[in-house]
Amino acid sequence: MNIVLGAIADDFTGATDLAGTWVKEGVKTVQTVGVPDAGTGIGDAEAVVVALKSRTAPVGEAVDRSLEALQWLREAGARQIVFKYCSTFDSTEKGNIGPVADALADALGAEFALVCPAFPTNGRTIYRGYLHVGDMLLAESPMKDHPLTPMRDSSLVRLMAAQSQGRVGLVPLQVVSAGVEAIRSRISALKADGVRYGVIDAVADADLRVIGEAAADHGLVTGGSGIGMGLPENFRKSGLLSAGSGPALPETAGREVVLAGSCSAATRAQIAAVDDIWPARKLDPDGLAAGPGEVGDAIAWALDQPADAPVLVYASAGPEEVSAVQARYGVERAGRMIESAFERIAAALAENGFSRIVVAGGETAGAVVSALGATALRIGPEIAPGVPWTETVGGRPLALALKSGNFGRETFFADAFGMLP
Ligand code: ADP
Repeated sequence: MNIVLGAIADDFTGATDLAGTWVKEGVKTVQTVGVPDAGTGIGDAEAVVVALKSRTAPVGEAVDRSLEALQWLREAGARQIVFKYCSTFDSTEKGNIGPVADALADALGAEFALVCPAFPTNGRTIYRGYLHVGDMLLAESPMKDHPLTPMRDSSLVRLMAAQSQGRVGLVPLQVVSAGVEAIRSRISALKADGVRYGVIDAVADADLRVIGEAAADHGLVTGGSGIGMGLPENFRKSGLLSAGSGPALPETAGREVVLAGSCSAATRAQIAAVDDIWPARKLDPDGLAAGPGEVGDAIAWALDQPADAPVLVYASAGPEEVSAVQARYGVERAGRMIESAFERIAAALAENGFSRIVVAGGETAGAVVSALGATALRIGPEIAPGVPWTETVGGRPLALALKSGNFGRETFFADAFGMLP
């Protein structure tokens, strides 16, 4: 194990976002599901992104998990740590961004860390320390009404100061525009003033690259996935990182299956595009409620299909059918029942030669990943924006594509398998 870059992400899709950024920069990147065990293999990874679920967890828990992740990353050799949070700075008055940043900075002995959630490609820009979402200030954007982390202030300086122990200062855009040396001397001045966190303006990817270069000797950098962009180049210059290679597809051979639990319009259209071409079976929620027979039948059916085409097992249904099922069993029980069916189906099929698995649905994917015991995923090329092929490392080799419900065009399932050798 000899990684150079380590990251701690406060949720799973955020982790994938940063991992994808590094893969695009030519860095071999693995994403782990939670804090890895001592024995978790990461293959030849140069960067590891630990995906936590700490965004809205109790503060103490978020801090503890983040410190565990940090310890693992340092033992694996990471020379620079990124604390990755959402580009809309999703947090409450108490945290968890501030307290986690404090704990990581203390543990690393970092006197100073940048705060930069900017993600210009997605319209998240920072000017004069104020975070914008498209044409709106953060606190005027729909984020003001978020159910868990409503953002009612747009000033990152104030937000960070309210959550963290350290003093917070600003590196304004004119300094960023003046280049690497200007940024470094502004940071030195802030440090001399006892400032621990520097919110830094960025309105374009070019700004993020300059900022990344200026942060070459920072032990801790905090921000969105964009802040990751400029960091690998520093390690290339110092010879610690390979020249960079395109992401490799999974090499896992075996039978192919789609497990679809998302009821989104996109997923239903993707199902409709293949369900009369490939063997397809819809799970019956009433059958699932009645006992284990429905799952057993679905597994036996899948194993019985010709091995030369992908197999599709889905629960996805239109809004009326979903409401009826939810009325009969309750929203939570219906969801859980179907997710646990996919857990058992995935485990059984993976035991029996199915090793290329596409999962549609965020919750469904979470359930399937844990049922398969996947703890680390090497990130490969994208099938659609935001959805890469991944390959499990350590343990049983599986090719996994985990698609959030609404992602991908109609031909996504065939596109995915079509990419594999
Ligand atoms: P998405 O990414 O589209 O939100 P998820 O997998 O996160 O997809 O969520 C879909 C939820 O709907 C899951 O809990 C799944 O078990 C549930 N579900 C799937 N099919 C049905 C159905 N026919 N009736 C009721 N709930 C369903």
